[in-house]
Amino acid sequence: MALIKCAECGRDISSLASACPGCGAPTKEVAQVEPMTIQATSKQYKSMQLLGVLLVLVGVVAGIAEAPVFGVTTGVLGLALYIGGRIGGWWANG
Ligand SMILES: [Zn+2]
Repeated sequence: MALIKCAECGRDISSLASACPGCGAPTKEVAQVEPMTIQATSKQYKSMQLLGVLLVLVGVVAGIAEAPVFGVTTGVLGLALYIGGRIGGWWANG
């Protein structure tokens, strides 16, 4: 727990408090927006991974069904998409 200065009256207040106990000024306008952005970003990378897995499966099926060029191309594309989603999710969430 850290102490921050109230923007309105300059009093030391807890960074966990949603408002200054002295004057009632709100302290966290920015903190409320951030978690939503992270959630939306990780969801985007998750769907990227899902699409990658689906493409790999399509590639494997196409390979079995004697369409090796299409199968390998789709498989590699899916793998790249999946890895991109993993790295992107890791990069965005730390
Ligand atoms: Zn205050």
